[in-house]
Amino acid sequence: MNKFTPSGLLLDTSAFHVLFDAVAAVGATPLGGLNRVAASHEDGQCRDLVCAWLEQRHFEISVDRVGNIYALLALAGPTAPWVLTGSHLDSQPRGGRFDGAYGVIGACIVADAMRTCAQKGFSHNLGVVIWTNEEGARFSPSMLGSGVYAGRYTSDFALSRQDASGVTLAQALGEIGYLGKSEAPAVPAAYVELHIEQGAMLESSNAEIGVVEGNWGAVKYTVTLRGTAAHTGPTPMEQRRDALLAAAKLVVACRAISDATGGKLLTSVGRMDIEPNSSNVIAGSVIVYADLRATDNALLTDSSLAFERAASTIAAEAKIELDVQQVVNRSAGVFDTDLCALMEQVATAKGYRSMRLSTIAGHDAIALCPLCPTAMIFVPSKDGISHNEAEFTSTTDLEAGLDVLGGALHELLCRPIGH
Ligand SMILES: [Zn+2]
Repeated sequence: MNKFTPSGLLLDTSAFHVLFDAVAAVGATPLGGLNRVAASHEDGQCRDLVCAWLEQRHFEISVDRVGNIYALLALAGPTAPWVLTGSHLDSQPRGGRFDGAYGVIGACIVADAMRTCAQKGFSHNLGVVIWTNEEGARFSPSMLGSGVYAGRYTSDFALSRQDASGVTLAQALGEIGYLGKSEAPAVPAAYVELHIEQGAMLESSNAEIGVVEGNWGAVKYTVTLRGTAAHTGPTPMEQRRDALLAAAKLVVACRAISDATGGKLLTSVGRMDIEPNSSNVIAGSVIVYADLRATDNALLTDSSLAFERAASTIAAEAKIELDVQQVVNRSAGVFDTDLCALMEQVATAKGYRSMRLSTIAGHDAIALCPLCPTAMIFVPSKDGISHNEAEFTSTTDLEAGLDVLGGALHELLCRPIGH
């Protein structure tokens, strides 16, 4: 492993704040958050803004078939391998300003510092990437653009995904001018993503930098329970086939599966679609969206089976039809140990308190992980709040993360090829 030497790279933090504020204004909500779901008008405006910034600085921009944007900086010649950094610009419908955007803007500022630094002798080129539909709020599944890049999904699958109004990703990207034609660039020598933690571990440990060692596994279900819609008055209790009653029991069962593990498994039901959703009608059908997460893959598998059994039992007792679809099955994974060590060395050399942790939330880095050496740097989220308009990270913490990303990328770009 190479020893870290402080790069002395000059990062323009004022340019960071100017670009961050400009990006945060696109799709801003009155409460200080963002509504900038994937391939929306606001997402298009925000992409235009960041691309214009990169074009002014002579990055070579290409857009692939699913709207992922790559901005390349040839530091080492056209045939040299490249290092990739970036994140996403889409948000939840009532999301925060920092999720995703921080990693994109951080990547832009660090890449621009590499471009303007006087140093010669880079062994790698650098790319900034903006992935399409990380959040999965408008189009399911999440991490769709990075998933296509990593070969998890085909472009055709991604482009055919529909939002709640039946608009496909292809149509939406076409409308904002980001249905690209370029081939995605070759697999990078490394991928590094800067992101807010979205949890409270850094804050509670008084650490400024999180070195992400790996990701929690996640299994997600949509469970459809079909009973019979009927009048809430005259229908005798014994004749009722109440889909919402069954759904309620499933919500409780899902929580009980977590409780039995002493908190090692995290479970939640965050959404239910109720039909016809009328106070005078016994619910005819309910779709339950359940989410199970753990670091232990065996525990996650066992718990998923327990959840499916609970759904069968509850449906049988309520005499209703059941359809269980597993829509996400993501194993717990480990990020590159060498890159983790590098992030830690850079943080320490720069005087930051760092700690190792695993990400519970999904990120584009998780999609890239099987493809190439991958790492993530986290900075604290105030009170652990994220996917919320109140999401906040202090200026000091934002700049610390930027500094560590700069140091780590500088080291990677100068490494002999193959190391
Ligand atoms: Zn994110």
